[in-house]
Amino acid sequence: MTDRQKRREGVPEILLCDLDAFFAAVEQRDRPEYRGKPVVVGGSLSARGVVSTCSYEARKFGVRSAMPVQRARQLCPEAIFLPGDMAKYRRVSKEIFALYGRFTPEIEVVSIDEAYLGLPAGEGLAVASRIHRAVREELSLSVTIGVSVNKLLAKIASELAKPDRVGALWPEEVAAVLWPRPLELLPGLGPVSVQKLNRIGISTIGQLAAAPLELLKKYFGRTAPALWQSARGIDNRPLELLSEAKSLSEERTFAADLAAEEVVRAVLISQAESLGYRLRSGGLRARKVSIKLRYADFSTITREQTLPAPTDSDLEIYETAVRLFDAHKGTPPWRLIGLRVAGFATGEQLSIFDALPAEKKEKELQRTRDLLREKYGGAVVYRARRLLKPPPRDKG
Ligand SMILES: [Mg+2]
Repeated sequence: MTDRQKRREGVPEILLCDLDAFFAAVEQRDRPEYRGKPVVVGGSLSARGVVSTCSYEARKFGVRSAMPVQRARQLCPEAIFLPGDMAKYRRVSKEIFALYGRFTPEIEVVSIDEAYLGLPAGEGLAVASRIHRAVREELSLSVTIGVSVNKLLAKIASELAKPDRVGALWPEEVAAVLWPRPLELLPGLGPVSVQKLNRIGISTIGQLAAAPLELLKKYFGRTAPALWQSARGIDNRPLELLSEAKSLSEERTFAADLAAEEVVRAVLISQAESLGYRLRSGGLRARKVSIKLRYADFSTITREQTLPAPTDSDLEIYETAVRLFDAHKGTPPWRLIGLRVAGFATGEQLSIFDALPAEKKEKELQRTRDLLREKYGGAVVYRARRLLKPPPRDKG
């Protein structure tokens, strides 16, 4: 046993498993004629559509997710453009999570192609290699797996290992590996925060870790300690296991205060979609929906509504959230928007929706998403994507 292993003895490990270019990879797997070619999957191929995934061949042309489909067509006109088949991707996703379940019962579903897995001390790397091989052999897909002792470092390890590899990042490697790198590598640090830090002379993670906490507090208020800790590789968030969860929540803090209600709605749409997805993947429905709002003066409120019947519908969660927001929005701007679902029910109450055959149910899910976009606008959804997924620059 090495010194390094001795120091970590008894500390449970965490894997972040992230499928590579998931939607595009499923298409390339199922259609051999697409292999080795640029493939772009967009939710809608209309003028307002946005790229959801593209193959690595398309990335070479500069195509990225969350980019308008129109722009992708300009960059790579020869790409194969596909509208995507959510029903199929959900089926494959279920197979992948079932495969993970053979290795550990501790699974936190992050999204359709991403999950954190909890493992006993010392087992992370070995299990990661077995999962990597099993996904390749049984499902003909490639997965990148980051291994560490907390969610933050596991996520960063996967970013560094992409694509199709297993990589570890241990706390004792943070100074050597993480500190020389640019701030953009820190998950959750948006372009607005990066710009703010750049302006005060901080551009690497090491400079952030070395900055006086008091200075950071001046610019980032209450979120400063968490920011400072993440630069040191510290993260105490537990895994949110669906089997044990009493509630599920999404929260977003804004470095620049938000004044536009339209953007708040866009954030709520994105949060409702994510919560709806997490509920459905755990076979759960929620009776209670609550929102959390922090105003410019840092006062914070939460307001809850109990639904007539439990739900796992994105649209119903979103509409309840908006009713709560409209009733309690107070005076703009807002610093934080949170959405939470609780009061879980599992299966005891069969809705008409559940009685539908699987295929119709998928159609119904797709319809909900389309409805959200139609009702509240593709542009709004696109703005939410940009806010929540940092790469393209935005002005906050
Ligand atoms: Mg992925």
